[in-house]
Amino acid sequence: MARRESQSAKSQRLGIILDRLAVAYPDARVGLDFTSPLELLIATILSAQCTDERVNIVTKSLFARYRQPVDYATAPIEELEESVRSTGFYKNKAKNIQQCCRQLIDQFGGEVPQTLEELVTLAGVGRKTANCVLSNCFDIPGLTVDTHVTRISNLLGLVSTQDAVKIEFALMKILTSDRWNEFDRLVITHGRRTCIARRPQCSGCPINDLCPSAQEKP
Ligand code: SF4
Repeated sequence: MARRESQSAKSQRLGIILDRLAVAYPDARVGLDFTSPLELLIATILSAQCTDERVNIVTKSLFARYRQPVDYATAPIEELEESVRSTGFYKNKAKNIQQCCRQLIDQFGGEVPQTLEELVTLAGVGRKTANCVLSNCFDIPGLTVDTHVTRISNLLGLVSTQDAVKIEFALMKILTSDRWNEFDRLVITHGRRTCIARRPQCSGCPINDLCPSAQEKP
């Protein structure tokens, strides 16, 4: 179905998919817990190669202890490493978080910047993290391509690549920017609850008839 599908047909199908997912998941939200742009920035850096559930456990105590960029910037690195150890790659993550917070202080007045161009200059911050912060903290359109978006966009035949940047730009062509943030929240929630990696629940999936990869049709 997807191989010969025109861009406009794909766009139309995606619109229906999002409408259905919006009905199925009225409570869809980002999986990371946060109360400020700084917290989401840190949580997203920690989420690389780690589950949201694990990150949320770690950040519960981390955010109670470190409240401002200066707290991370001046902490002994060994202490910071220990605090994020269970998220994996902890030495690198602690180093990036500390450097990122020093940049926030030195270059952005201690505030998290609100443009993609500025965000990606921060240590440990790529397009995924930047878009996640823009969309969830500032309501600025940004397509966050995480593991769920990558997997499901391919399963749905919307893209045919594992490259996150190529996926982001391909989705931009078939989805207007006013639905980018909604797309992320819905698709990520769909990936956590129904289209689960290695065991998708196709028979109960609300977009079963619109998915070329459905293992069971309604
Ligand atoms: S039909 Fe199956 S593979 Fe397709 S989106 Fe639904 S759960 Fe995923």
